[in-house]
Order: sequence, then structure tokens, then C-alpha cells
Amino acid sequence: GQCVLVCPTGALGERDETDKVLEMIYDPEIVTVFQFAPAVRVAFGEEFGLPPGANVQGQIITALKRIGADIVLDTNFAADLVIMEESAELLKRLGAGKRPTFTSCCPAWINFAEIHYPQILPYLSSTKSPMQSMGVICKTYLPEKMGIDPKKIRTIAIMPCTAKKDEASRKQLELEGMAEIDVVLTTRELARLLRREGINLAKLEPSGFDNPYASEFSGAGAIFGTTGGVMEAAVRTMYYVANGTEYDRIEFEQLRGFEGVRSATVDMGGKIGVVKVAMCHGLKPARAIVEQVLAGQADFDFIEIMACPGGCVDGGGNLRSKKAYMPNALKRRATLYNVDRAQKVRQSHNNEQIQALYRDFLEKPYSDKAHHLLHTMYNDRKLTLTRTVKEIWQDLTMST
Ligand code: SF4
Repeated sequence: GQCVLVCPTGALGERDETDKVLEMIYDPEIVTVFQFAPAVRVAFGEEFGLPPGANVQGQIITALKRIGADIVLDTNFAADLVIMEESAELLKRLGAGKRPTFTSCCPAWINFAEIHYPQILPYLSSTKSPMQSMGVICKTYLPEKMGIDPKKIRTIAIMPCTAKKDEASRKQLELEGMAEIDVVLTTRELARLLRREGINLAKLEPSGFDNPYASEFSGAGAIFGTTGGVMEAAVRTMYYVANGTEYDRIEFEQLRGFEGVRSATVDMGGKIGVVKVAMCHGLKPARAIVEQVLAGQADFDFIEIMACPGGCVDGGGNLRSKKAYMPNALKRRATLYNVDRAQKVRQSHNNEQIQALYRDFLEKPYSDKAHHLLHTMYNDRKLTLTRTVKEIWQDLTMST
């Protein structure tokens, strides 16, 4: 049936697409490829009565396999891929004196920029979001490696976010007539789907990813789900690209606050020098920083924007924390930082599956092929009123 929920960030309706996913699963001709976002694993347990911040990554994999998923991948892998592309793009832009660059992984922010501030669009990173990048990998690299016809693949993304449904339907995110992402389910929809299938996530044994191409992730990929995480992940890799050595300080406390806008300076050493960054969560602070940039009053190289206060850990597709980022979102966030700390590999460029992807398929970050597949464009969608309210009213009254 149809169930409409309202997105707290963008007045987008949430269509229930669980039936569509079941049809794909039951079709023997179709290969279903699932992915789930960094924030989903630390928020989803709450749907089944587990404590906030519980990491249910392993139970989600088990649950998806049990409902019949053919392949389960990790959006965290694609977050690492996005960092490779975005870092290369950013360094290139810095070299050309283009500043600042805004992150582009949050579709509610992209919609906001396209509709309200089209003048800012040239400052947005062209790198696609992790969800879309994974969709591309699922319909190009994966079928090549696994010997599957790409036309038989359907990509299903489990997201903490209602705006991701809208992103998946963008015309410019199509790959030779195929959708990069076929269906987006919010965490709430996945919970409904599992209940319908009689699965209680809390009772499941965890299992691991078993795909050798697109499921490994670094600590940097894991922290994408919280405000400041994209910035921290990018800094780790940009430093390496610029200097050829790892940054000795892996964690950046000054990037981890919770104010609406936080700024910091990071010394990238050698070729780049000091970089000025800002992290912003919530659309009100985003509006303020955009206006500053347009007025020439902001002095930043790189700005991360997340439309939801707290970032995706408190996204509109999750169970909502009672008060903004308190207390559940804080617990979800703490778990993401712990996942990062526990990972052997903590930088995107050291993820071996990412290295193999570039070696075997994409050549290098920002190569022609990578640019063609993993970068996108934005449209001016400013709403302009061409008639006055009085004229519209006259039309309406005359036609009745
Ligand atoms: Fe979606 Fe909110 Fe995350 Fe943006 S911050 S991608 S709107 S969940």
C-alpha cells in the first residue's frame, strides 16, 4: 500500500517501495545488489528495540540475505571512493585558485542550492554521492568482474534519508539509459519489510560481507555518516596525495564539534600549506555560509554541508531522535567514531578494494573514465515568479 511520510528537511513525500523490492527479489532473472549507508548500521537497531548506537551491520547483512538479496555491498566502500575523487578534484581546484569547494553528497543540500542559490553551483564538487557512485560500480565494474549482464542488475540502497529517493530519480544520474540506483528504501521501510517477512533483527546472528570487490571500507568511509566526517576523511587522503606520507594526526578534534558551523585550519604541509575548512549542518547555517561566500566574506577552501542537524545519523529516514542530536544521534555518532578507531585501515586510499578498482578499472582518481562515471552536473532550478499574485487570482476567478 501507499504510505506517505514527510521529510523533515525538504517536504519530500516518502513512497513505500517495499513491494517493488520484493518483486525484484522474486524475479529469477534479476540479480539484486543491496547497499546500506554508514549511518544506517548505527540507527537501525532502534527499530527493533536495541539500544541507540548499537552497531547492527552484521545483522543487516544477515537480514538482507535472508529476504533473498543476491549481493550485499557497503556504501562505506563507495564513501572511500568518493573521497578519492573529491580529494583529487579539490586539489585540482585549489591549484587553479578556485575556492571554496562545497561537498555534494547530501541531496537535500543540492536541492537547496539549485532552488535557492544557483549562483553557488559552480562551487559544488562535481563528485557524485557514495550511493550513486556505488550504483555506477554495480552496473559497470561489478558485472565485468563477476560476469553478469548489467541489464539484469537491480540496485537497492538502504538510506537514512528521504531525499535520497529524489536523488536516485535525477535525470543526469542515468547510465546509458539504466538507472544507477533502482530503488531507495529508508531505514523505516526496511524495518517494515523485515517485519512483513517475519524477521526480528534483534534475534539474528551477525554475518560479514562476502563480496571481494566493493564491500571493504576504511575508518574514513565509516565516519561519513556524521557531521564533519566527510571533511576528516578528505583531509586524511588529501594530505597523503600532497605529501606522499600519512598525516601523523589521524583524528581531528577541531572538526568534531556540534555547533551549526565549525571552522578550522589544517596544515597540509609542503605543496598545499594551510587549508581553511568549515563544516555546517542544518539548512539555516547552510544559508548563512552560502550568503557569506556569495558576498565575498568567507575565507574557506573546503566546506562540508549536511542538511540534517547532526548529519545522516539523524537523517529523516531513521527513527527520529526526540530532540535534535540528543541523545540517540550522539550515541550513533560515537559508534561511528569507534568503528573508525577499530579499523586496521583508516584512510580511503589504503582500502585495498579501492586500490584494485583503480588499478583494474578506473585508472586513477579524476581520470577521464572516473570523471565520466563518477562526476555529475547541477541545474539552476530557481523558482521565479513570472506573474503577480493578483494576475493569478484574476485568472482563477475569470475561469470559474
Ligand atoms: Fe540525507 Fe540528511 Fe544525510 Fe543529507 S544529511 S544525506 S538529507 S540524511
